[in-house]
Amino acid sequence: MTIHQQTRRALGARRNSMDDIDRAEAQSAEFLRRRIDEERSKTSVIPATGYCLNCDTALPDGRRWCDAECRNDFEKYVSRR
Ligand SMILES: [Zn+2]
Repeated sequence: MTIHQQTRRALGARRNSMDDIDRAEAQSAEFLRRRIDEERSKTSVIPATGYCLNCDTALPDGRRWCDAECRNDFEKYVSRR
């Protein structure tokens, strides 16, 4: 093996192990992002009906819950399923 080949192999090995770390980090970030999207999509896709999704109080257009407490209760209910 020439010096040149040895150097390339050493550099290649180091680059590969760094790629593995980068990939692992990218994967865990991607995993986390997907989990967050999943959590969000549980409630964000539900359209406003004119009534609180938690307690059926009539609400102005575009609102889905009367307050944060109702939203939290609803999200708890949804995530239990
Ligand atoms: Zn409510």
